[in-house]
Amino acid sequence: MMDCVIENAALVGRPGRWAIALQDGHIADVQPTMRAPAQTIINAAGHLLIPGLVDGHIHLDKAFLLQQAPAQVGDFAEALATTLQLKQQYTIEDIQERSRTVLERAIAFGITAMRSHVEVDPILGLKSMEALLPLKREYATGITLQLAVFAQEGITNQPGTEKLLRQAMAMGGDVIGSAPYVDPDPQRNIAIIFDIAEEFDCDVDFHLDFLDNDDPLQLPLVVAETQKRQWQGRVCLGHMTKLAGLSPEQLQAIAADLQSAGISILALPASDLYMMSRQDTYNVRRGVAPLHQLADWGVTVGTATNNIQNLFTPFGDGDVLKIATLLANVLQLGTSAQHEFCLDLVTRQGAKAIGIDNYGVEPGCAADLVLLGVNSASAAIATATPHRTVFKAGKLVAQTQLQSQTFWEAVATG
Ligand SMILES: [Zn+2]
Repeated sequence: MMDCVIENAALVGRPGRWAIALQDGHIADVQPTMRAPAQTIINAAGHLLIPGLVDGHIHLDKAFLLQQAPAQVGDFAEALATTLQLKQQYTIEDIQERSRTVLERAIAFGITAMRSHVEVDPILGLKSMEALLPLKREYATGITLQLAVFAQEGITNQPGTEKLLRQAMAMGGDVIGSAPYVDPDPQRNIAIIFDIAEEFDCDVDFHLDFLDNDDPLQLPLVVAETQKRQWQGRVCLGHMTKLAGLSPEQLQAIAADLQSAGISILALPASDLYMMSRQDTYNVRRGVAPLHQLADWGVTVGTATNNIQNLFTPFGDGDVLKIATLLANVLQLGTSAQHEFCLDLVTRQGAKAIGIDNYGVEPGCAADLVLLGVNSASAAIATATPHRTVFKAGKLVAQTQLQSQTFWEAVATG
């Protein structure tokens, strides 16, 4: 007896209707029809069943800060300065309250896996880790939360940071990372992060090549360390906005390096579009990494939220499917194959980018699934439909239907 069978589902890239059997938290079988008896049978009525959404790069501890400090200027300098100021007043309760809002919405949106960066530095100490570790456990039945210990303010310029990073990893950090572009010694910064990764046998995640000045890419430093330490398949880079400014020949050479080093790239279009190219007074450049080209050359790519309603990104609600829509719009991806690619960026490939393998609608994969109220990938990307039924480890965890909508007679009669 199966725990659950979802019948009459549409799947990405597979024509026809499918039945998906769930057993013990995993997908047991995928067939056009299912004869196995099941405790629960759900009729998908031709709607699209996708793997659970993955938000591979978010900052829970910086979410919804705009409520505390609305922007006065709206530029990068203000975002850095004001956020630094707010950070000094964070309490564990405040971080948890804002993070809970994000996590609960995420579960309702169908995000079944998330990597949150967790700031650790002498200003904040271990407060963010202390706030988020209990939430990771508390919400585990709805979402797999990876905590990426993150040195936002630099390492070599912030005495004490290195020790704190190790303490945070010992407390239960899953991943280690930094933003080498804010460190006066990026090479040393990167080497320290890899040292810690080796010590704790964990994956690495850098915020990299985010600025839009003419300084050379820091990517070659990360590629070299990845090869030297044999950390292939364990390194993820967020932003990489500078890739948008390269010629196709330059980009192809870099893609070859990324592919051979097994380094994945996450574009963060909501932040990248808002923050990049501020010096352009007309024909403003977009500054979003061209993921479709990188994918053509074999690089693992994904897209993610980064920030929600703070000074770095004043917009968004934490729905990573809407980020896939934004990315499709910015990168001008219009075909149905490209829409399937965009969906892949926030599901299967997005999972791989943060080290989650064996993710998809296939036998043996975790039964982390979302039934969307649309019939195709193109419709999913076009509308980011709010109609979602969410399964985590084979269990129904959330369902959203559009609330009532009322038209008055005057609208219809014009
Ligand atoms: Zn970030």
